[in-house]
Amino acid sequence: VTILGLESSCDDTAAAIVRHRAGQPPEILSSIVAGQAELHEAFGGVVPEIAARAHTEKLDLCVEEALDEARLSLSEVDAIAVTAGPGLIGGVLAGVMLAKGIAAGTGLPLIGVNHLAGHALTPRLTDGAAYPYLMLLVSGGHCQFLLVEGEEDFTRLGGTIDDAPGEAFDKTAKLLGLPQPGGPSVEVEAKSGNPARFKLPRPLLDRPGYNMSFSGLKTALLRERDKLVERDGGLHVQDRTDLCASFQAAVADVLAEKSRRALAEYMGRKPAQPVFAVAGGVSANMTIRAALETVSAAAGAQFLAPPLRLCTDNAAMIAWAGIERFRAGHRDDMSLMARPRWPLDQAAPAMLGSGK
Ligand code: ATP
Ligand code: FE
Repeated sequence: VTILGLESSCDDTAAAIVRHRAGQPPEILSSIVAGQAELHEAFGGVVPEIAARAHTEKLDLCVEEALDEARLSLSEVDAIAVTAGPGLIGGVLAGVMLAKGIAAGTGLPLIGVNHLAGHALTPRLTDGAAYPYLMLLVSGGHCQFLLVEGEEDFTRLGGTIDDAPGEAFDKTAKLLGLPQPGGPSVEVEAKSGNPARFKLPRPLLDRPGYNMSFSGLKTALLRERDKLVERDGGLHVQDRTDLCASFQAAVADVLAEKSRRALAEYMGRKPAQPVFAVAGGVSANMTIRAALETVSAAAGAQFLAPPLRLCTDNAAMIAWAGIERFRAGHRDDMSLMARPRWPLDQAAPAMLGSGK
């Protein structure tokens, strides 16, 4: 099976072609990602209007590039998979409309994919992870533990009750005058910082379950920053690196401790090939990866983290999720809707009629 995937749910426009032949590992024939960071830079965050227009302008070109790089024509593709939600509605619409246009023009089957399923199925694309595996999906808009038992079978065990860690990284960068996206810039600063200097909160660790909270962390960081600014009239380089390191350590601690507990529940089910996988933009963070790998090894599960280019948004994960749905017999038609909200543990949009 060879599938063209499209992704445009946030601020990355992407197209990719993934091929899977029986008995062989999947091949990413091409994966084109056109970011929009420079368009949103002046605004300190993603502006939905600007994002939607940029997706509309770039999607066509991304598809052409993806086909060129894979040396394929549309007639050699078996289906088109497109992110149908959740995300910024303008961007999702741009992708869904283009996918419908291509499907109508070529007669190829159309498959709507949940963006979060794209992230959550990535360990199957990269490492052939077997179901059921435990997934920590940790990104710009989400943070949740999922038991993944099939391409449409996700059970949410728990997650953040407020901000996502990626959002917290982005806000931290903003507070400290570092460039967006905040994750990579905070990680770079943290390398030369002291993670123990500032005692930032680790919320909800005293509570049972897998819920987490990251909004208080940002408030605490703001307080520390203001104290320093008031005392010294500004932030010294070392203060900034120490703040970054302390912030990153707090996020890593919370994720690791909650992962330890989720792993205990998962291992209690005696999976034949236990796997703990992480995905989403924040899984690109090496400190966080290392902390998760440690708890995974202690629990006796194989730890899987995607290569960096498959952590953040990309269309290869959408094409792969499309392959899994295609194999399961799933097809969408021209009634496929763009859904700004689409929790993973709900049925596909086609089965929901109203799209709500
Ligand atoms: P979602 O997938 O929840 O809809 P999204 O698609 O915007 O959100 P991703 O592209 O998966 O999110 O991830 C982007 C987020 O990952 C940003 O918040 C970014 O700061 C964060 N991020 C990227 N690299 C790193 C890193 N090295 N360390 C920490 N965070 C990172
Ligand atoms: Fe994402």
